[in-house]
Amino acid sequence: MKSEDATVLVLNSGSSSIKFKIFHGRDVFLAGRIEGIGTSPRMVAKAGSGNGEVERKLADDADHGAALEAAFTFLFAQFPNMRVDGVGHRVVHGGTAYAEPVLIDDGVLGDLERLCPLAPLHQPHNLAGIRAVRQTFPKVAQVACFDTAFHRKHPWVNDTFALPRSFFEEGVRRYGFHGLSYEFIVGKLAEIAPDIPDKRVIVAHLGNGASLCAIKERRSVGSTMGFSALDGLPMGTRCGQLDPGVVLYLMQARKMTAEEISDLLYQQSGLKGLSGISSDMRELEASSDPRAREAIDYFVFRIRREIGAMAAVLGGIDGLVFTGGIGENSAHIRALVCRDMDWLGIGMDDAANDENRMRISREGSAVKVLAVPTDEERMIARHTMKLLGLAGCE
Ligand code: ADP
Repeated sequence: MKSEDATVLVLNSGSSSIKFKIFHGRDVFLAGRIEGIGTSPRMVAKAGSGNGEVERKLADDADHGAALEAAFTFLFAQFPNMRVDGVGHRVVHGGTAYAEPVLIDDGVLGDLERLCPLAPLHQPHNLAGIRAVRQTFPKVAQVACFDTAFHRKHPWVNDTFALPRSFFEEGVRRYGFHGLSYEFIVGKLAEIAPDIPDKRVIVAHLGNGASLCAIKERRSVGSTMGFSALDGLPMGTRCGQLDPGVVLYLMQARKMTAEEISDLLYQQSGLKGLSGISSDMRELEASSDPRAREAIDYFVFRIRREIGAMAAVLGGIDGLVFTGGIGENSAHIRALVCRDMDWLGIGMDDAANDENRMRISREGSAVKVLAVPTDEERMIARHTMKLLGLAGCE
């Protein structure tokens, strides 16, 4: 490790897992995950250099805090020159107040607690990660980076629902998510395609979660995700856009409870529900079952529909960027999305797409189409280093 560069730990904490990456300057020093919290926790970590992997079983009764403490006691013994100068967290919800990353103190933690009802499946676990770090590294400064922050400059018409206005004031509005990914992509575009980020770009983040973002002059002006991470495109297991009348039907006619509806919409729907086979795009692409094809057809149909809507919001587009596990890797989905899109100025270079090149539009296509890997953890590391005044990551 070069001593002048800072070392930052980036955490993404979920209900039963904590994913972590340690950045030393621009380099990934270590990447790993603690999984099975609540059942049978274990930690796996790989050196960023590719040399060496470590694995450790942790105590069965370890909660987030105990698991993190045990995992890092072990890692510090394995990598004696490792240190942690700051910690950055992925936090799903920053509400209306947090439009930028923030240094975490008791006041901020209290604010973030109050946002739990807006993201009950993610926010409490993100906060458990923050508390776990306080327990493990009590002297190290922590920074919260929000999935909602990049969208906070949306025009009002994008963010409101047509409900009585008091609901908007109460916080019932379209927040948008995947903001750290979009922010990373905008920064990357400035390097690899500097003529487009200042114009009109649609970014399609297509992973297990999926959304589109309309970007004008480097700012988000619209997102397909709304109040929750359920809205917009269908996803691995989430339904995407749904008539609220369906929820009323499920409650009134089917007498389903809130927990049952939540499980249906978050865990049993999307590609998994439609195909009855899998939430995983690779499995669906490999399957000959007609239900797998129909699930893909619906996924593609909704992406194309939303691209049309976003192009209308932007008044045309200059760039279309695919990212996320599906967007970065599936030439098939990209080809289906861009088929017959000449009306929008999209001309695909089929060979470049098949070869997974970064630029996949034809020479002369009015819209530049790109496939660009995203890196949300790197974005968090950069924010954390910047906010804490640490050296090393641009
Ligand atoms: P998350 O949203 O959990 O971060 P990812 O961005 O890793 O998820 O995306 C996971 C999705 O990407 C899965 O549906 C997976 O099948 C899909 N995927 C990854 N590689 C490929 C590939 N080569 N072809 C098609 N789909 C792929």
